Amino acid sequence: MPPDGWTRLKSKFAPSSAAQSAAQVPDGVATKCAKCGEILFTKDFEKNLKVCPVCGFHHKLTAEERVAFTADEGSWSELFAEIRSTNPLPFPDYEAKLAKAVGATGGNDSFRVGLAQIFGIPVVLGVADFHFMAGSMGSVHGEKVARAMEEGIARRLPVVIFTATGGGARMQEGLLSLMQMAKTSAAAARLAEARLPYIVVMTDSTMAGVLASYASLGDVHLAEPGALIGFAGARVVAQATVQKPPEDYQTAEWQMAHGHIDSVVPRRDLPQTLATLLSLLGGGCLAPVPVHAPASQSYNGNGAHSAPALVSAVSGLEDAHG
Ligand SMILES: [Zn+2]
Repeated sequence: MPPDGWTRLKSKFAPSSAAQSAAQVPDGVATKCAKCGEILFTKDFEKNLKVCPVCGFHHKLTAEERVAFTADEGSWSELFAEIRSTNPLPFPDYEAKLAKAVGATGGNDSFRVGLAQIFGIPVVLGVADFHFMAGSMGSVHGEKVARAMEEGIARRLPVVIFTATGGGARMQEGLLSLMQMAKTSAAAARLAEARLPYIVVMTDSTMAGVLASYASLGDVHLAEPGALIGFAGARVVAQATVQKPPEDYQTAEWQMAHGHIDSVVPRRDLPQTLATLLSLLGGGCLAPVPVHAPASQSYNGNGAHSAPALVSAVSGLEDAHG
């Protein structure tokens, strides 16, 4: 792995000075790590699933990238994509901001839902997109989370949700945003009553109203390494308590040490970890057949894969994700 990415870039483009090298590296070739500042080849960075090879920081993914890294190739089928916010208050410039975010992400809001398979196990997969207005939860985001749960109940499928939000509730929708906390929590309760597995994967960052509602109600809580996870920001907590928080405060690792997270799992291992958990939690409550069962993968009807099937699925996934 390249700890000396900038040196490699300089030699590749043969600059005569450091200043020239910065000017001569073509756009899109280099990516700067948001954590350690190392300059990386974008191609290597993306091949490493956007995890910095130097410091291990897990950078934010778009919803599409998350689906591609998590679900079996070709298994994703998006649901409720047409739902859009209507600016009900109405808030100045909100429609323009929404239009800009739609153009930037290709999604209609900060949460996307679909049917998918993970190692051949059918699930309802929900993915928050931080790139859409910082993953804030307005009425559409909350509605889609609730519908993901309802879809799981209707189809007798487990629900897997990846969370990502900076500030939690979307300010432009005021109280309607806050209501989503109750709505998504009630939907999670119905999913639990239906005895269907609900797995949450918290990614950088998972804060405020999202953490205080559906993100904290899973049967299992996983998190990516180093993800910022908390309710109020560290600075606000420091001001309110008049105490300096510990160095690793509100990291995924700190939350695991304090019982909020069950396991911190590197991005590359998440699909296999999810498949293993889904198999263990399945126990007869899952759908009798996969939605789109690949011929090469067996499914015993109880949500449990045989070991050989899982092994073959692992190699298939590695091929699919390069
Ligand atoms: Zn780094």
